[in-house]
Amino acid sequence: MKKRQEEIINIQDLRNNKSGRKQADNTSKKTAKAGKAAKGAGTDKASKKTKTGKAAKGAKPDKTAPGTKSAKAGKPVSSEKAGSTERNGKPILPEIIAKAEKVVRPEKAGKAARVKKAKKASVSKKLLRKQENREKNRPSLFTLQEAERAKERKLIELKQDIQNQGSLLQEGFGGSAENSAAVSASYIMAIKEDRRQRELSELAKKRASSLIPDRDKKIKIIFLGGLEQIGMNITAFESDNSIVVVDCGMAFPNEDMLGIDLVIPDITYLKERATKVEGFFITHGHEDHIGALPYVLKELNVPVYATRLTRALIENKLREAELLDSAKLRTVEFGDFVGAGDFTVEFIKTNHSIQDAAALAIHTPAGVILHTGDFKVDYTPVFGDTIDLQRFAELGKNGVLALLCDSTNAVRQGFTMSERTVGKTFEAIFAEHTDKRIIVATFASNVDRVQQVINAAEKHDRKVVIDGRSMVNVIGTASELGYIQLKEGTLIDIAQIRNYPPEKTVLVVTGSQGESMAALSRMATGQHRKVSLSEKDVIIMSSTPIPGNEKAVSRVINELSRRHTKVIYQDTHVSGHACVEELKLIYALVHPKFSIPVHGEFRHRLAQREVALAIGVPKPNVLMAETGDVVEISPESCEITDHVQAGPIMVDGLGVGDVGNIVLRDRQSLSQNGIIIVVLAVEAGSGQLIGGPEIVTRGFVYVRENEDLIEESKKVILESVDRCMTTHNGDWAHMKNVVRDDLDKFIWHRMKRTPMILPIISEV
Ligand SMILES: [Zn+2]
Ligand SMILES: [Zn+2]
Repeated sequence: MKKRQEEIINIQDLRNNKSGRKQADNTSKKTAKAGKAAKGAGTDKASKKTKTGKAAKGAKPDKTAPGTKSAKAGKPVSSEKAGSTERNGKPILPEIIAKAEKVVRPEKAGKAARVKKAKKASVSKKLLRKQENREKNRPSLFTLQEAERAKERKLIELKQDIQNQGSLLQEGFGGSAENSAAVSASYIMAIKEDRRQRELSELAKKRASSLIPDRDKKIKIIFLGGLEQIGMNITAFESDNSIVVVDCGMAFPNEDMLGIDLVIPDITYLKERATKVEGFFITHGHEDHIGALPYVLKELNVPVYATRLTRALIENKLREAELLDSAKLRTVEFGDFVGAGDFTVEFIKTNHSIQDAAALAIHTPAGVILHTGDFKVDYTPVFGDTIDLQRFAELGKNGVLALLCDSTNAVRQGFTMSERTVGKTFEAIFAEHTDKRIIVATFASNVDRVQQVINAAEKHDRKVVIDGRSMVNVIGTASELGYIQLKEGTLIDIAQIRNYPPEKTVLVVTGSQGESMAALSRMATGQHRKVSLSEKDVIIMSSTPIPGNEKAVSRVINELSRRHTKVIYQDTHVSGHACVEELKLIYALVHPKFSIPVHGEFRHRLAQREVALAIGVPKPNVLMAETGDVVEISPESCEITDHVQAGPIMVDGLGVGDVGNIVLRDRQSLSQNGIIIVVLAVEAGSGQLIGGPEIVTRGFVYVRENEDLIEESKKVILESVDRCMTTHNGDWAHMKNVVRDDLDKFIWHRMKRTPMILPIISEV
């Protein structure tokens, strides 16, 4: 896999790269499919409707919900427009801006604020009723989702309130009795749910900590992806009775996978054991860990456990796939234990280039298997806590059977720098360029990076614009959940940018990997509708090119330089993955009996093997597995015992798995040698040739300049047809083969090329 896109992957951006015709195609297919899906899900939704309506009381209604679905499906993808203002057809930036206000509000959550909230709730109820009426015949996805979100938001708010100023429930909420009853009912529901989850977690924790590894128990680890290529991470853990699956990611296609949008893992193994599968446990919200869920859940709808931000990002994906109301999503907090059949899965806080990343300790009958997910050790993270090293040590002390550890940076010595160092660089750049507009290009998912741009912007009194569809999506979600802190009015819509002097603005954009349809590329090539670049712009490239993207990145930098902008890329990025010294730290703390390096190409995993050996894991105890391998592990042994069906399934538009090796080979042949179509018309009955041969070519030679060749080809075809008439009259399949073979030989002889040859015989 050449393109390692884990931190940026955005399917939409990718699709935008395709030809306009294909886009239109996809869009119309999507429309048809969406309609069908909605029909099919009708009964299901109807049964849920009452619940939805109830839960939605007191929730903030989504004014734009009705009709947005069809608008989204029918509208061709215009990334410019989609990027700046919409998500799923509803305005997004104003929403973020509104949410941003919300983030600062809890600090001044006095009585006045509460009254305001209650008033809002009453208005909300009216709007909600209106909306329900309008939607009587078409239950809305958004209502349910908004209600769920509202519940979660309230839970967060309530927790804060309780901490800050004692229980709100006792004081009452102000406003009308009806309102306060509705609001407190949903609060109480949320608290109950939360308490139930805590109790379950406690139970699971007790069970996990009282577990004594059984010498006779064997656990299978099945690698369904993530070892040969970077991306498509998915690993199953199987006992006698249960299966738990860690992550469910997608990967980008190889360069020879022509026309393929993305690849997803083959889950045949899981489908064949569907009743055993307890759920997906997701380490974090990057596409190479969640991207295949919309495809996989369609075939295997089991619960999905994830931390808050990860869950929200999964929700975004499932909403696009219209799967949100059938999916079973569960929010997990760090330190939670989830009982899942024979297993108990524990979520442990780590650091990474996205927040809410978790390592998973899987407590199995054979012992603890620790899966780090993607991680680094950041002692001074921008948001939240340092990786929970204490827990790693604790587990190590009690004995860890096996460690499955991130290998991405195992070839790099030393420590990965703290994310905060980038903030310092930003500071310096902002201080130096007070007379210029600043544009920062980074990974859409790097919320902490955007936070640091916001910090610098606020300090230097600049307004911040977020541009690029995927970034607006992720940052919108993150700020909604309070993972981004910003002052009121810092964020502005891109449409407002001309109301401010350039040197008082900063743009955060996608395209740091040179993606041709991303915001930065469009600015660089002068195709951006709102932003044109000049010598008054400073561009910060806040990412390093992922292997395979170097050319694209350097092309963009060239374009930017041609527009006389200043491009800065030194010290403006740090990785989200652990380097050698961090790996050593984890190995020293965890002290695993067995080690299976994961996440990385072979060379990366081999480098981690060296680390494991250096720290003292015995040589036979470090296993190099491949995708499809089944590893059987017991307290005494760890070995590869089997190989199962696994590997990439190609997704092209809405087609999943319908493009196989044969189609791919044809595409490769077409792309390299073009096609010749031979049309022959024969008389039914007599079999006499009455028309043609006509020759049509595409991607082969320019016909007008090669008339001789075409004429000679026709002669060759006529000879072939004559020969067939005398021997195999009426056997068209035979005639096609002969024509194809003869012409193929002739073209090869003349030009040393092998175009695809397609004879068409029509009987008239
Ligand atoms: Zn990641
Ligand atoms: Zn990853």
